[in-house]
Amino acid sequence: MAMMRSDLGIMKILHLKKRGCFLLKLLCLVVLVLIFCEFLVYYVVIFQCHWPEVKIEAHRSSKQYSASVLKAMFLSDTHLLGEIKGHWLDKLRREWQMERAFQTALSLLEPDIVFILGDIFDEGKWSSSQAWEDDVRRFQKMFRHPVRTELMVVVGNHDIGFHYEMTTYKIKRFAKVFNFTSGKLITRKGVNFVMVNSVALEGDGCTVCSRAEAKLMKLSHKLNCSHQQEQNHSNKRCSDVEQLPASEPILLQHYPLYRRSDADCTGEDSALSEEKYIPFKEKYDVLSREASQKLLWWFHPRLILSGHTHSACEVLHNGKIPEISVPSFSWRNRNNPSFIMGSITPTDFSLYKCFLPLESRVVTIYCIAGALLGVLILAHLQLLNPPFYFAQHLIRKHKAV
Ligand SMILES: [Zn+2]
Repeated sequence: MAMMRSDLGIMKILHLKKRGCFLLKLLCLVVLVLIFCEFLVYYVVIFQCHWPEVKIEAHRSSKQYSASVLKAMFLSDTHLLGEIKGHWLDKLRREWQMERAFQTALSLLEPDIVFILGDIFDEGKWSSSQAWEDDVRRFQKMFRHPVRTELMVVVGNHDIGFHYEMTTYKIKRFAKVFNFTSGKLITRKGVNFVMVNSVALEGDGCTVCSRAEAKLMKLSHKLNCSHQQEQNHSNKRCSDVEQLPASEPILLQHYPLYRRSDADCTGEDSALSEEKYIPFKEKYDVLSREASQKLLWWFHPRLILSGHTHSACEVLHNGKIPEISVPSFSWRNRNNPSFIMGSITPTDFSLYKCFLPLESRVVTIYCIAGALLGVLILAHLQLLNPPFYFAQHLIRKHKAV
């Protein structure tokens, strides 16, 4: 009797051990899938991206090449959700994805500078000061960067509101965090970038608009003077102007320059075919024709990068000035977000688009893992009758006969 009891005890322990081992295996599977989908997948995908080659003087060594080429990353429309429209789970998911993508890109690609082309926040246009503080804190955590990489931000309509919602208060609080208001010129490795507040290019003479236009005209004067000084043209109006590298600037702005629609845009991440032919509204979807013309006159840019449409497009202005619409960096807006990598010198540039992991693919991996997990649990509970169990059962029966 006592022996039977101890046998039962041992069997119970063995059973518990078996169950514990099985649960441990399941846990390992779940952890592995989570690590892959939430962490490693960004490395696997971004690792395949590379800085494009750009022409420099032939006799330069590879060390001189990296010293003279600026590695710039451009992304747009991160739309960090706010407290009013953002559901906490949506916020958590999207922000984690963007943080992982950005941090992985920084560690693998080591850009010199990163530009975000506006609509950093979704609710900057109406958020209370407390909500704004919270949004900024999350932004700074997600987009933290080492000292060797600079981060520059252009203002968008969701950050300060569309033209008629834009107030000095909202502009000031944006400027306090990002050191950007009406316009800014920055020069790195001989490359000039003009960052434009395109929301203020309404052209109605409002205070903010006049200030922005005056600032841009001043920057344009500075650049033109540098060009003239380089060509040894003396101009009295340029005598007290600080000299910059005489390189045509690259314009960075949130609204694209005027274009009728996205009908001519091509590529897997251009607008959906049902949206492509909807005509764009000036001063809402794109800049007005007048403001677009002014920017082209003032700056004679060699390249323009803009955001706002959330989709990709390449346009040629006046038959020679390319504009790249940078799609949204958030999976909330696209299944296939991306960012642009630019190798830029004062005279040339080369661009490459780096796609981030497809959300549908990550969801598929989770579904397959979920199904596998279900099958394993069912098999363990012997609710399934796999063919070999059935065969075993039959053989046993046959032998018994
Ligand atoms: Zn926008």
